[in-house]
Amino acid sequence: METMGFCHGLNVLIRRIARPRSVRCYSTTADRVAELESEGAYAVMAAASKVEQETGKKVARLEIGQPTFPTPQHIVQAGVRAIESGQTKYSSPSGVQSLKEAVAEHTTKTRGIKTLPEEVVIGPGAKPGLFLTTLALVNAGDEVMYPDPGFPTYKAMTLTAGAIPVPVPLTRDGRTFEMATFEKLISPKTKLVVLNSPGNPTGGVMPQNDLERIAELAKEYDFWVITDEIYSRLLYDIPCAPSIYSIPGMKERTILVDGFSKTYCMTGWRLGWAVMPQQLTNKVELLLTHSVGCTATFTQGAGVAALTGPEDDLLEMIEDYRSRRELVVQGLNSIPGVTCPVPAGAFYAFFDVSSFGLTSREISRKLLREGLVAVLPGTDFGANGEGFLRLSYASPRDQIEQGLERILSTLKTL
Ligand code: PMP
Repeated sequence: METMGFCHGLNVLIRRIARPRSVRCYSTTADRVAELESEGAYAVMAAASKVEQETGKKVARLEIGQPTFPTPQHIVQAGVRAIESGQTKYSSPSGVQSLKEAVAEHTTKTRGIKTLPEEVVIGPGAKPGLFLTTLALVNAGDEVMYPDPGFPTYKAMTLTAGAIPVPVPLTRDGRTFEMATFEKLISPKTKLVVLNSPGNPTGGVMPQNDLERIAELAKEYDFWVITDEIYSRLLYDIPCAPSIYSIPGMKERTILVDGFSKTYCMTGWRLGWAVMPQQLTNKVELLLTHSVGCTATFTQGAGVAALTGPEDDLLEMIEDYRSRRELVVQGLNSIPGVTCPVPAGAFYAFFDVSSFGLTSREISRKLLREGLVAVLPGTDFGANGEGFLRLSYASPRDQIEQGLERILSTLKTL
């Protein structure tokens, strides 16, 4: 015992000498979180609420990508039944079997590629599917390419993995990568490419020929692809969007991320999935085991009902979004100095306000403070979003109408 005590004391002493007290800094956070930023939508939400409090007036809230429709009743009922029947215990970290089966069947049907339940990982939202697969694939110093403008989580997950962010500019209409630049940015360090189609913030749908070229390059340069297809069902001009997962030879190096938040108005239920090669599921399952443990079991029960139940509510919602899209695109294009391409999917309009000679942040601030309308500056999605604003038409129609009037009258003053 005495020898152990002596050894312990010696150890403490050696550690103190090796790392003197003066350089210990317990309050300093880790490098991996040093450059993390929040999602711009949260900052604008808080700013809009503050303006409402200060002025006592209602702001037209067009900042957040959250459906205002309720979760369809048959899904809510399935969730309630799941709680009442005792589905309130831990599930397997990668998800309950019935939901994995439903996702595999849904993926096989919608992407035209045979997908097995063992290739499915369930998580609390689509975000963990993005974040944890990146952690499982990417080493410090690897490069990760993603769309600019693009969903802010892509940069955050890259930084957290200690990897190097390589934002790739989108074409001005927001549909796809500038392909010549994309090819130039590929390097021997490229480990992962993130695609998002239909995309946030532009609503763009990538064309098949660009996906085929990216698939060729993925095989040639041996990189992985995450395809974030969370808006896959929110399409207005075509029945389904092309997916790189469906291109022969790509399933082996692709992670397909999708979920329930947008399609089934389930943002607060926290439920999503990722499909990936089986050897990767084991590693992602370990990350789930040691981080969230598992996804709420009764939520997963509701997910089965969403994927296998009637789609009337979804189809009605898509029709509603389609007419809101028309309202928004026509309304914005009728404002002198504004150009708004027609978004093929999701529920965002990403419109060009560069002719007003102010930065997008300055314009969005003016719109909020003077016009009482909340939209996001394009730069919240990357440097290439400068000159643009994002409007979410997931918001109710009356707010959209009011918001458009306010945008018009505020921009007139510039
Ligand atoms: N990907 C994109 C492109 C998104 O816009 C969002 C939500 N705003 C997500 C993923 C995350 O979705 P979830 O709620 O399923 O985590």
